[in-house]
Amino acid sequence: MRAKIVAGNWKMNKNLAETEALLAELSAKLPNTDAEIMVAPTYVNLASAVRTLESSKIEVIAQNMHYAENGAFTGEISADMLLDIGIDTVIIGHSERRAYFAENDEILSKKVISALGKGMRVMFCFGEELEDRKSGNHFKLVESQLKNVLFNLEPSAWSNIILAYEPVWAIGTGETASPEQAQEMHAFIRKTISEAFDSTIATNVTILYGGSVKPGNAVEIFSKPDVDGGLIGGAALIADDFVAIVKAI
Ligand code: PEP
Repeated sequence: MRAKIVAGNWKMNKNLAETEALLAELSAKLPNTDAEIMVAPTYVNLASAVRTLESSKIEVIAQNMHYAENGAFTGEISADMLLDIGIDTVIIGHSERRAYFAENDEILSKKVISALGKGMRVMFCFGEELEDRKSGNHFKLVESQLKNVLFNLEPSAWSNIILAYEPVWAIGTGETASPEQAQEMHAFIRKTISEAFDSTIATNVTILYGGSVKPGNAVEIFSKPDVDGGLIGGAALIADDFVAIVKAI
């Protein structure tokens, strides 16, 4: 069901002590809210984060997973391993995974099917590169990213999917899509899903915006009708900034 969500993707930042310190600060400062609050620390700190946040409203989620159940995949982590430590939401398709680890639509499709098959919730990231936007190809590109990975799923799968539209040119660059650009793309995404499935699925899916969301621009971005919250990178590493962004929702 459609929800308000603010999720922090910590990427490859924060050691164990720093992770615990940031979680403690967030726990102390986050306001009461109906929105879902999520944080994605690094793999090695996930289990301790889950323990620390046991009675907290903050949910710990994973940044990635492998599609295989187990086996000879050195350095990888499976859905079962995440579930085993109490994590049932995973980010799949982040642009850094696509760019630096060659994760293409085929691999991402396997990951999504694997995660959903295990009963996990998937936060699926996608978005265009700067060249796509400059050439006016951004809608087509986004449509193909959705189609290649998500449109072969059963309609029922959509209740476990959260979308995160993240234009690559806005990630970690300080450059943000304008609230109007975000709204335009989110509305396009709902229309595309409505055509491929139906309007109920399109209306009910949660669509986050990601790309240099900061305390100074969050209110305006979140005020758009098709923007249900944000996936936050850099600003999620600073407690006061993340708290301000949560307050903006
Ligand atoms: C991200 O990596 O998902 C992201 C949105 O990063 P940033 O907020 O730093 O642009």
